[in-house]
Amino acid sequence: MPRCIGLIGYPLRHSVSPHFQQAALDYCGLDIRYELREVEPTGLHDAVNDLRKPQNIGANVTVPHKEAVLPLLDRVDDLAGAVGAVNTVVKDSRLMGFNTDVYGFLQALENEGHFDPQGKRVVVMGAGGAARAVCFALLQRKVMSLAVTNRTFERAGALVDALARYVEGDRRGSHDPKPRVTAFPWQSLSSADTFQGCDLIVHCTTIGMKDTPREGQSPLGLEVIPASVLVYDLVYNPSPTPLLELAQRAGARVLGGLPMLVYQGAASFELWTGREAPIGVMFEKAREILVGETT
Ligand code: NAP
Repeated sequence: MPRCIGLIGYPLRHSVSPHFQQAALDYCGLDIRYELREVEPTGLHDAVNDLRKPQNIGANVTVPHKEAVLPLLDRVDDLAGAVGAVNTVVKDSRLMGFNTDVYGFLQALENEGHFDPQGKRVVVMGAGGAARAVCFALLQRKVMSLAVTNRTFERAGALVDALARYVEGDRRGSHDPKPRVTAFPWQSLSSADTFQGCDLIVHCTTIGMKDTPREGQSPLGLEVIPASVLVYDLVYNPSPTPLLELAQRAGARVLGGLPMLVYQGAASFELWTGREAPIGVMFEKAREILVGETT
């Protein structure tokens, strides 16, 4: 019987991971199937318990379950625990949670976006599982300031509180300057003042994502996007997103979500299989599916 890796999320129609993960598993000659497990929040407990069956070796966890999955696992590694979000589950005798979004986000930002976060001013839109990973990653890279907003303001406030606690612990005894971490109202996204002096804008909500109610929309208007920023949209389908189309028209540099998707997937692949991920195969398949490109 082939072994299985599940993708647990809802909805999953837009997902590209099954394509590039299966291509990587096949390329490495591994008899493992990467399977969709479309699960609404009420079914998450059962879906996680199902991973204990002998044929399962792990899973990816995606929207909207990355935070809710933590208490259902046997152990969570330190990084995923600090972030408060898990996107990868590995089963040995127990179910262990990891977060590879932090690695994927930074690899893409530095390798593909050619952006060094140290000393920079960043605006983050969103406060879900992906935003949590992004904010922790940026603090690890010593940004100067992090301003976070979310449709539900309380969630942005809770994230900023968690980030402030992390900064306190991390910088104890250090002479490095402390980053300024703040939450601001979602309504301020319509004002150009919000982005004055900003170097990087990261979008971590589902706005613009294919097959969602806000498909075709952008969280920002063209008029508020400074030409001097890098706009990084974690949404990878469609490619480019409405936000990135506007950012390009505003003269800004842009980075889409595809490289992060592939880098986080490569790190997950290595956790499940213990093998080096065939990153070129994964990029080629993801691009083929998303933009119809073949190299
Ligand atoms: P999540 O935990 O479910 O969080 C969803 C976020 O989207 C929350 O901030 C939520 O705000 C916001 N949101 C949802 N509908 C909205 C609306 N109509 N208007 C304004 N905000 C809205 O999901 P996630 O895991 O953080 O993922 C967020 C996005 O990042 C998804 O599009 C996902 O595909 C993408 N992502 C990409 C990668 C990659 O590798 N490229 C990796 C991870 C995630 P509320 O709190 O107000 O509901």
